[in-house]
Amino acid sequence: MCSARSMMGLGVFSLLLPILVGLASCHPIPGRKNFNKLLLISFDGFRWNYDQDVDTPNMDRLAQEGVKAKYLTPPFVTMTSPSHFTTISGRWIEDHGVIHNMMFNTETRWKYSFKTTQKKTEWWDNGVLPLWITAQRQGRKTASFHYPGGGAKYKGEAVQRSLVESYTHPDSNETEWRENIDIVMNWFTKEDFDFVTLYYGEPDNVGHKFGPETENRRVIIQQIDRTIGYLVEAIERHSLTNHLNVIITSDHGMTTVKKKPNVTEILLIDYIKFNDSVKFDIVDYGGFGMLLPKPGQEEALYQALKNAHPHLNVYKKEEFPERFHFAKHKRVLPILMYADSGYNINGQFIMYFNKGDHGFDNVLMDMKTIFRAFGPDFKKNHLAEPFDSIHIYPLMCKLLGVTPEPHNGSLAVTQEMLVDSYDQQPGAETQRTLALQKTALGLASVTGFLAVLFVGSVIYTAIHRKKKQRADQNSKSGPIRLTQF
Ligand SMILES: [Zn+2]
Repeated sequence: MCSARSMMGLGVFSLLLPILVGLASCHPIPGRKNFNKLLLISFDGFRWNYDQDVDTPNMDRLAQEGVKAKYLTPPFVTMTSPSHFTTISGRWIEDHGVIHNMMFNTETRWKYSFKTTQKKTEWWDNGVLPLWITAQRQGRKTASFHYPGGGAKYKGEAVQRSLVESYTHPDSNETEWRENIDIVMNWFTKEDFDFVTLYYGEPDNVGHKFGPETENRRVIIQQIDRTIGYLVEAIERHSLTNHLNVIITSDHGMTTVKKKPNVTEILLIDYIKFNDSVKFDIVDYGGFGMLLPKPGQEEALYQALKNAHPHLNVYKKEEFPERFHFAKHKRVLPILMYADSGYNINGQFIMYFNKGDHGFDNVLMDMKTIFRAFGPDFKKNHLAEPFDSIHIYPLMCKLLGVTPEPHNGSLAVTQEMLVDSYDQQPGAETQRTLALQKTALGLASVTGFLAVLFVGSVIYTAIHRKKKQRADQNSKSGPIRLTQF
């Protein structure tokens, strides 16, 4: 029965609703300082075992003071921009769409280099939000220092503070590395940033130029180790030891490139006619390549390449192995190929100078990379089993007290790295406070609604009585007047 009484109650309630909600939202937002700050550092191309044939006293000390994973598996394709964007979003590459270091346009046939893409929002912003933006939307202050993707806008929103690597940026200047750490420490202490990502282009550069099994690579690893020592010292100097969690990771490993006369190199023009059958290609970029066939040429191209070279794996897009989580994105071209470890995929010429490379299958140990972490929320002297880099994202969200976007990772994989009392810690407290506030708000709304119903019914009864009195009087003096509500 929809009585006049309940109708009136609802009417009054709808008038009071904005006031009730307004009162509820006047409650202070739970203190955003109830979690520790987070620094994510990436050293590009740091293979999982680079610290095993060289003295790294600072990294060794950190393994004692924090968490070390046996190794970390990057996503396929094992390349800088795609892998970094997986770390910062927790999504497979086929979901986030940053499928290569190069941005390309198959119509204009233009290709843009890794550094050129850094400010090209159209390459990065494909509907998946990186953690910077999600954290900002939840009240955190975030910054990116040279981290791939940090210079783009996402759904119109930029990272609050973003430094993008210049074209002439030196990769291996140790003094500059330390200055960058000082800048980031000041962001945390003087400007109260909550989450910063810091990127270094080494040891990738040295790995490419000289190869991973060289003295040059060992020297750059020692430089990185000194820098990590400087970082720990800087954290102490800025009194951040008990307030800052640090994750040190990387995007992929590195393997020695195989060249003639030791092997028969892969040269696609030995098997196909580029001018006749290929409209656009992404090759000559390490061990991974893609082709866009000219109309009607796909099957012929595929057949010509399928068994062409014993170390070349060729697939049609729809048949590319699922385990790579790579091929479903619309940017991926119809024919994909990856080479066995160390083989470069050359197109029409061999003009390849790198002595080391990556981009290969992520099951290969040479493509595995590092994961280290320390700080107030991490266990000490904890050796974690290997895991996929997609799981770093939910861990970072947990540390920052941020509700994650949909992602492919799982907190269950990484949570065991956190101290056992983590759930009694401030970061967890924030979550609990939020949950309690939600419950309180719900209860307040229900109580308010019931109160309004009660008040409404009292008013109705009063009016009804008055009306009845009037009707009684009228019945004595003339016809009944109906009152409409
Ligand atoms: Zn590289």
